[in-house]
Amino acid sequence: MKVAMYYSLDDIRMEDMPKPKIGPDEILVEMEACGVCGSDLMDWYLRSRVPLVLGHEPAGVIVEAGKNVKDFKVGDRVFAHHHVADLKCYYCKKGDYTLCAQFRQTHLEPGGFAEFFKVAAPNLQIDTLKLPDGVSFEEATLIEPVGCCIRAQNKGGIRKGDNVAIVGAGPSGIIHAMLARIAGATHIMVTDIVDYRLKMAERLGADLTINPNKENLVERIRESTEGRGVDVVIVTAPNVKAVEDGVQIVRRGGKLLLFAPTQPDQYARLSPHSLFFSEISVIPSYSVSHVETRTALHLISSGRIKAKELITHRFPLSRTADAFQTAARTKECLKVVVLNQK
Ligand SMILES: [Zn+2]
Ligand SMILES: [Zn+2]
Repeated sequence: MKVAMYYSLDDIRMEDMPKPKIGPDEILVEMEACGVCGSDLMDWYLRSRVPLVLGHEPAGVIVEAGKNVKDFKVGDRVFAHHHVADLKCYYCKKGDYTLCAQFRQTHLEPGGFAEFFKVAAPNLQIDTLKLPDGVSFEEATLIEPVGCCIRAQNKGGIRKGDNVAIVGAGPSGIIHAMLARIAGATHIMVTDIVDYRLKMAERLGADLTINPNKENLVERIRESTEGRGVDVVIVTAPNVKAVEDGVQIVRRGGKLLLFAPTQPDQYARLSPHSLFFSEISVIPSYSVSHVETRTALHLISSGRIKAKELITHRFPLSRTADAFQTAARTKECLKVVVLNQK
């Protein structure tokens, strides 16, 4: 089968690989669509593991099912989650599923940017979801990213009437804006340095957009919040500047959701003095568990999250390299999806 092998952001090669062999408790899925994630573009995050096949936002059709598999059959349309918790360790018992030791050890084999991928038993049992007829494969690629945002907002607790600022208007930033609206936020502000993305944010529901390279971010936010700053800031851009901007615009008693990592050797300047006296909470949220993927699918299938409007670019599997270049370099895009066209 053909796979897109990742060596670096600028070196993704189409290679041949044997189709994975499945065991009695596993399935083989023919990939139909797989989203390119922001984390796929973080070369520093991937460098120690190359070469590898990326793709953790896939959807497809089951083409083989092991003899012990009861709940799924050949022909089922599915989303499969690449990471699943064991549901029995200390962290799982506390609900911290994404911190479970098994979570990061589980993977789809070889990954979503391949003609076929294998879903191992734990992934199949815990977090493989059948797609309702009304949900297309493309839309299903948004289950994982929407789930990540749901998890963060559940931890951050946006309340009715809150105002929310989102730093970074990539796909996650805009999903956060949509979810904040569903949660009852009344004023949603989105900041980004790419005007295309701000326009998309406006179209998809932001009340105010700000380009901090052109306007004073802190002043604009203060003006529109009676000088207070916002109740909840969600930092989706993976850099220190975004975190430091976030702290500048959160109100006293407010919350800052840390939704993207920075590189491991980078540090932000945060003042414990002002965090303390202003009672600002910093709340990180990493990845998504089986709990939120189900909610995500429900929001997508009911049309409350307009998944289709988030997808701006599509590439065939053979052009995965171009898909990555578009997502990483031009920034004039939201969700980029790779399709396995026959
Ligand atoms: Zn992702
Ligand atoms: Zn666990």
